[in-house]
Amino acid sequence: MRKRLLELMGGIGIDEDACNGCGNCEVVCPGNYELLCLGVEGAGTLVVRGGVAVFVSAERCRRDLPESTCSLCRDACPLEAVYYPEREGFSRLEEEVLLRGRCTGCGACAAVCPEGAVEVDEYPGLVRKCTRCGLCLVHCPAMHPQEERPLREPLGDCLKLLSARARSWLSSTAQDGGVVSAVLAHSLEWGIIDAAVVAGVGAQPWKPVPVVATTPEEVLAAAGTKYANSPTLAGIREALELGFRRLGVVALPCQLEAIERLVESEAGRELHNIVALKIALFCKANLHYEGMVRLASSHGFSLREVRKFAIKGRWMLAVTSRGVVRIPLKEALRYTRPACSLCADLTGAGADFSIGAVGSPEGYSTVLIRNHRALGIFADMLREGLLEARGVEDSGLALLLRLASRKLQDSGAARAEKRRAAALPGGGTY
Ligand SMILES: Cc1cc2nc3c(=O)[nH]c(=O)nc-3n(C[C@H](O)[C@H](O)[C@H](O)COP(=O)(O)OP(=O)(O)OC[C@H]3O[C@@H](n4cnc5c(N)ncnc54)[C@H](O)[C@@H]3O)c2cc1C
Repeated sequence: MRKRLLELMGGIGIDEDACNGCGNCEVVCPGNYELLCLGVEGAGTLVVRGGVAVFVSAERCRRDLPESTCSLCRDACPLEAVYYPEREGFSRLEEEVLLRGRCTGCGACAAVCPEGAVEVDEYPGLVRKCTRCGLCLVHCPAMHPQEERPLREPLGDCLKLLSARARSWLSSTAQDGGVVSAVLAHSLEWGIIDAAVVAGVGAQPWKPVPVVATTPEEVLAAAGTKYANSPTLAGIREALELGFRRLGVVALPCQLEAIERLVESEAGRELHNIVALKIALFCKANLHYEGMVRLASSHGFSLREVRKFAIKGRWMLAVTSRGVVRIPLKEALRYTRPACSLCADLTGAGADFSIGAVGSPEGYSTVLIRNHRALGIFADMLREGLLEARGVEDSGLALLLRLASRKLQDSGAARAEKRRAAALPGGGTY
């Protein structure tokens, strides 16, 4: 039933299991009556076809008129099979997601908006009038809490777990072992993908923006971790508009979830279908860009002079031209996006590859290979000498499992606490 609701994008929904095709809705519909008077056959708003009511067109539907309160078809249905999908648009998203601190900034709302009315900076905002099609609500993962899709294992399924590093130029420029960039560069060269959505840097230093890279050089230019948010799904839309049809996408686990949700509508599927390779980055938390600006100023450096940010143990390191600044991780994490506390997934269980630092020695990436296709790509790269790999040590695996389990448990606790707070008089504050 939900599927139909989504297809209709704000029209009239029919619960096909409940409908017995009695035709009451067809008879009471003023739009159908108008067409009948005009002698038009085979058209209408809501008609019974093959024993079930079907919403044919919104053209004569009174509900499509501004200020309309027509609910005749729903009221006439004896089985409550007719329902009205939500007509709210961005304002509801603001209310339910943004104001409650549940927005991850994934960019799904911008990617699916047919009017191009939403743009995501740190958070989404309207740049044009919202037509209330409801697609942003359908696709926003925060509108569909994770309880519906529990993550049972802290790391998800995987075929192989390895420590690896790129053997070439990459290892010096990349964040850890350079495996993310190496896989993308190899996949571009072999036509496995025709472009890659990565996080480059825009006008402000260390503020990431989605970039559509089409060459290994462009992939390399975007290597390295930016600890603020890049609305990756908006990059998928850009790639679609540019005509690319086999994308490699680097995504945080929350963004991966948003990619999975793209199947929920026709417009979303167009985007989903061009994602050919998903690389998830491990992620404990994502910082507000404003927080990074504050950290820099309170520690006496400017973001412009930073060559690399890294997290090592209890420290966030800013490598600048003047030396390394050590920021206590606790202090940096004060600027975590609130939505991160709801996320249960450290590694991105739905990806082809999940890649992070935890579990491997300095200069290596920890790589979870999740399916046979990814295994094939990795094996080819080993054969070509593009990567070198070794087993993850027991202590590394134990640490990874501990962090992933903690994230899973903490997110459950955070959700339970928010449910409890929301149930209190006055509602919850997020
Ligand atoms: C916000 C954030 C939090 C992280 N937290 C952890 C953690 O808790 N534990 C852990 O082990 N690893 C974490 N990582 C992953 C880690 O920092 C490395 O990205 C990972 O080890 C891959 O290293 P690499 O050398 O193979 O990647 P590289 O070859 O350097 O490639 C990195 C790729 O990630 C893309 N990228 C960079 N920043 C972002 C971003 N903000 N959003 C989307 N894509 C981006 C780049 O464009 C590039 O394509 C985090 C990454 C991010 C972005």
